Amino acid sequence: MSRIPITVAYGDGIGPEIMRATLKILQAARAPIDPIVVDIGEKAYLSGADSGIPKSAWDTIYKTKIILKAPITTPQGGGYKSLNVTLRKALGLYANVRPCKALSPCIPTQYTGMDLVIIRENEEDLYAGISYRQTENVYQDLKLISRPGCEKVIRYAFEYARHYQRKKVTAITKDNIMKMTDGLFHKVFNEIAKEYSDIQNEHLITDIATALVATKPERFDVIVTENLYGDIISDVAAQVVGSVGLAGSANIGIHAAMFEAIHGSAPDIAGQNKANPSGLINAAILMLLHLNQPKIAELIENAWLRALEDGVHTGDIYCVGTTEVQVSTDEFADAVIARLGQAPVRLDKANYPSNTQIQLPKVIKKADKASQKLLVGIDIYLDSQETDPTVLAGKLMQEPKELFLQSLANRGLKVWPEGLPDVYCSEHWRCRFLGDASLNSIDYQRVLTLLQQLYAEGWHIIKTENLYTFDGEKGFSLAQGE
Ligand code: NAD
Repeated sequence: MSRIPITVAYGDGIGPEIMRATLKILQAARAPIDPIVVDIGEKAYLSGADSGIPKSAWDTIYKTKIILKAPITTPQGGGYKSLNVTLRKALGLYANVRPCKALSPCIPTQYTGMDLVIIRENEEDLYAGISYRQTENVYQDLKLISRPGCEKVIRYAFEYARHYQRKKVTAITKDNIMKMTDGLFHKVFNEIAKEYSDIQNEHLITDIATALVATKPERFDVIVTENLYGDIISDVAAQVVGSVGLAGSANIGIHAAMFEAIHGSAPDIAGQNKANPSGLINAAILMLLHLNQPKIAELIENAWLRALEDGVHTGDIYCVGTTEVQVSTDEFADAVIARLGQAPVRLDKANYPSNTQIQLPKVIKKADKASQKLLVGIDIYLDSQETDPTVLAGKLMQEPKELFLQSLANRGLKVWPEGLPDVYCSEHWRCRFLGDASLNSIDYQRVLTLLQQLYAEGWHIIKTENLYTFDGEKGFSLAQGE
């Protein structure tokens, strides 16, 4: 069998320990892979590589298109941007797939029937890293959701459900609040669900859905959701199942794929040979399925299940009653290798279809007809120390303006005209100017004239957002209370 070249990154913290253990198991199972090691992460960044990925590593990644990656340390609050997010975006890895299955009674959990797969959108949402400080006290992160982004991940979720004979796909959004972005995700979900009449579908709001994942996880089958919700929900699910050290994930793109444990680099236990390598072992199993190697995936997964069933546990899953022997990272790998060819007795045996390559959905078609997009006004954000909205509106209207001031909002709440009394107003003011109340279209030159008028009067303009209608429908939200 010809060997498939894959890029291997040992990562930071516990990364090298769990990667050594995982590769040893892959080798013992005769997985037909040819690992090419790259140095990415903290050390590469400190030696000058942008975002922690040197050019030589990019070359290998682009050549192999398959990455098995141990966790990487990301500085919090400052420093370089998340390398993980950079890889996901640069390689177009649009779907993050995280299976979470209860291993009861070997790993104690209250929820013995839990067997769900979370498919998280991986490129968009608040993870775009588009952030601004706009005034002394107000900061902003931009949430971007696109129709093609939604289509790709939602279609993948339905294809996944069909391929692995799962019965239901649940979409999770917060579209009662974020009507534009989350509203789009929900709408596209409804459209695509119609094409998969063999699979049940439902939609839940994020807060109750997360609570249900934590308390009734057995009611879920496949979950598809946006980037941030998926991040949170998948850690809740992993914790409910027993330990963040157990779960692996696949990042799937059209031309490339990356496989990793869901946990981080665990600096608190790094170098102590006590980390659980199971998350990365499971990532390697997902990689083998992606490479259409179901038999070797089954061989490793069954040996891994058997080791857990025999009570061979690392410290994070130690439990009186189920642990027979507490082992190190290396010893755990050896225990799995010793059981290659064996199967679990009490846990379900791994049993995959003969073809485990999911046909990726075709690239999204553009709409047949572009909508009619008309500019009808502009939101101008001002940094002003004025605290009374009525006084601010009066000052803005003192001199005649090119467009009419329709409303003022502060932190999303309408405060003029007819705002509620005693509302705290920050220095971050949204001033909505329209051509007229009927939303007739205007020329952008009028916006430029308005901006010049405000600038000449000494107002501090932070940013502007054009207001459009699309086929007559507003492409902007109203403030709360409007
Ligand atoms: P973490 O997942 O590294 O650790 C959380 C807790 O779980 C720690 O107590 C740790 O000891 C324990 N833990 C994690 N993995 C374990 C394992 N395999 N075996 C036993 N115990 C384990 O999360 P964190 O501390 O928030 O993050 C540490 C660093 O990892 C940060 O820099 C973060 O940005 C990064 N991170 C990277 C990835 C990735 O590379 N995909 C993912 C998440 C976090």
